[in-house]
Amino acid sequence: MAVANGNIRSQAIKHKLMNTGNNNDLVDSFGRKHESLRVSVTDRCNIRCFYCMPLENVTFLPRSQVLSFEEISRVVDVAIGLGIKKIRLTGGEPLVRKDLPRLIEILATKSGVEDLALTTNGILLADQAQALRDAGLRRINVSLDTLKEETFRKISRRDGLATILAGIAAARNAGFKEIRINAIAIKDVNENEIVTLAQFCREHDLHLRFIEFMPLDADKKWDLEQVVTGAAVRNKISNELCNLIAETSADPSQPAKDYRYSDGRQSVGFINTLSEPFCGSCNRLRLTAEGQFRNCLFGTQDWDARAILRGNGSDAELVALLQDCVANKKAGHGIDDPSFIRPNKSMYQIGG
Ligand code: SAM
Ligand code: SF4
Repeated sequence: MAVANGNIRSQAIKHKLMNTGNNNDLVDSFGRKHESLRVSVTDRCNIRCFYCMPLENVTFLPRSQVLSFEEISRVVDVAIGLGIKKIRLTGGEPLVRKDLPRLIEILATKSGVEDLALTTNGILLADQAQALRDAGLRRINVSLDTLKEETFRKISRRDGLATILAGIAAARNAGFKEIRINAIAIKDVNENEIVTLAQFCREHDLHLRFIEFMPLDADKKWDLEQVVTGAAVRNKISNELCNLIAETSADPSQPAKDYRYSDGRQSVGFINTLSEPFCGSCNRLRLTAEGQFRNCLFGTQDWDARAILRGNGSDAELVALLQDCVANKKAGHGIDDPSFIRPNKSMYQIGG
């Protein structure tokens, strides 16, 4: 499989010339307007997925280095002032962060936040679903790559599949209507379980999304050969379960391509970061648990918001920091480029 790279350089000059947007908008030099912020609330996790974390000797951030809810709230306020509308909480595992519903409550009541969502591994969901819902959370993604305990243990190096399934049911009972499942298909690991997982999601009215395996594992063992492309997953589902029909997206910045089952029962999405990069329409920024902005999952540079927050810095300084972060965003992730350098941080440290 070749890894394609979004080439948008030629459009950049055009956008620069015709950019008539609000000066306060986070528009980069390629004309991409940033409206989405992923906020990592912790780098800690209660499982150890091989595609993300090391198995042992994980050094987590000291708690004092992790942003407080009040610090996150201030950053979000500044980001809203610059046009951010969507917030997704992630990690590490966000539900291991103490009192998370309090942060949900703070963010859900901000008038500028049009969409607040959370990505979780689901282990603690049964305990927390109701509190999260009561705090104002409406959208939730649960990561689930397999329905076999043995495969789950192989991937996560922990037990817990039944707990996650109970968590999904609890989320449903708590009133979450839109529950999405994130799955990574990996050769010789869970490739043969794709159809079973798709079938399960259809039966339980869950929207399934396949994300291609990216070179962000802490063990640095990622190999292109292990990647099962979105197209391969789609063919498998089409051939073995039910035909899939492409849906047209109302939101061009949406990285997932959605397909509806031809019998009308549910849909399935594909985030094909490697085989069909969506960098050209990327509108995302990230804030790590330690308060560093990143402009790309594969970026190698940090913009230090925490230094401003803890150094009595002004909102104007945070604005300038965010604008600089956006101004320095590259055209694409460049994984296919021979000069590609893996980020110094792994998925759990950046916030997926
Ligand atoms: N702990 C939560 C969870 O697993 O849902 C939230 C954080 S996790 C880093 C967010 C998402 O990133 C998960 O859906 C996970 O499957 C995905 N992810 C982690 N490592 C990945 C990798 N190397 N390539 C692609 N997706 C990855
Ligand atoms: Fe934890 Fe999520 Fe990373 Fe798995 S993908 S190790 S659940 S942070």
